[in-house]
Amino acid sequence: MNKRNFRNIAMITSKFLIAALLLTGCSSAGTSNNQPADNTNKSTTETKTTQTQMYTRSETVTIDQAKQLLVEGNKRYVDNKILGHDITNTRRKALSTNGQKPFAVILSCSDSRVPPELVFDQGLGDLFIVRNAGNVIDPIALGSIEYGAEHLGAPLIVVLGHEKCGAVKAAMEGGTYSDNITAIINQIKPSYDKVKANNKNADDMYNLTIDENVRNSMSLINKSTVIQKLLTEKKINIIGGKYHMDTGEVTFDIQ
Ligand SMILES: [Zn+2]
Repeated sequence: MNKRNFRNIAMITSKFLIAALLLTGCSSAGTSNNQPADNTNKSTTETKTTQTQMYTRSETVTIDQAKQLLVEGNKRYVDNKILGHDITNTRRKALSTNGQKPFAVILSCSDSRVPPELVFDQGLGDLFIVRNAGNVIDPIALGSIEYGAEHLGAPLIVVLGHEKCGAVKAAMEGGTYSDNITAIINQIKPSYDKVKANNKNADDMYNLTIDENVRNSMSLINKSTVIQKLLTEKKINIIGGKYHMDTGEVTFDIQ
């Protein structure tokens, strides 16, 4: 190939490349022109769907008011009327600056179907939650509960059991488990033994054991000297609750 032929080919190739680039540029400009219209439509829809009533509560809450807030929140959850919660950076910064003031300590099962914030329709800074499989008490769980009540000033402690608890079922059925899971089962087994001894012909041993396991955790919380002092001073109360899996309702009748 001589020099002239090479120059001609190079010129044709570069013209072709410029034309191709122009076409590509036009094409992407066309796409980007369409995008703002799509985004506008999306944000309009999102704004409409997030317009819900916001939840507010007083910073200072009594024992009775704390229970009432949980009862009302659970009713909203059951009725599919959950309120909007302030999870904006303004609320996050306010909690970071001013500190937390949760109104209830909740000991609940880790079961993914029983998340306390959703079940009680509460938001950031409302609940101090201790969770483990079977809502059992060990030193770490008890220390966390003491911290929530004594240092954060939460006036209500709730032990929340639930229907169809796998940890309770495992304790009833026995089997081979790791040492760590066995540690959980060992906490629940005495409740099952007690129910068996007192209700020989009971049809619903499972639910009775779930309730007894809640009672057992309440009793162990009661034995803490920190909790005893707060109870004597009438600064706190401990109540037992049970989450009903199908209805979403929490009943507070475990004494
Ligand atoms: Zn459970």
